[in-house]
Amino acid sequence: MIVNIPDRSVTEGVKVSRFEIGNTCPVCGGPRGLNRWQVNHYDGKQVLLVDIWTNPCGHVDLQSSARQEAAQILKEQEELANTG
Ligand SMILES: [Zn+2]
Repeated sequence: MIVNIPDRSVTEGVKVSRFEIGNTCPVCGGPRGLNRWQVNHYDGKQVLLVDIWTNPCGHVDLQSSARQEAAQILKEQEELANTG
């Protein structure tokens, strides 16, 4: 699924980027993000419109782990593209 969360790869200021993460909970493999909505997230400097979601299993996805997961998916896609 695609989520919009703060992008920590930028050093100047803060922005929200689209990240692709898996459709299932990384902890238990159950459905993920069936309920999702957008909230204004205040990061200490500015207000960002970001996605939040809940998993029916109750496991919580942290933004930091979602970013790591997205980076891993991106890496795998690039490897596939390079070998294919
Ligand atoms: Zn779970």
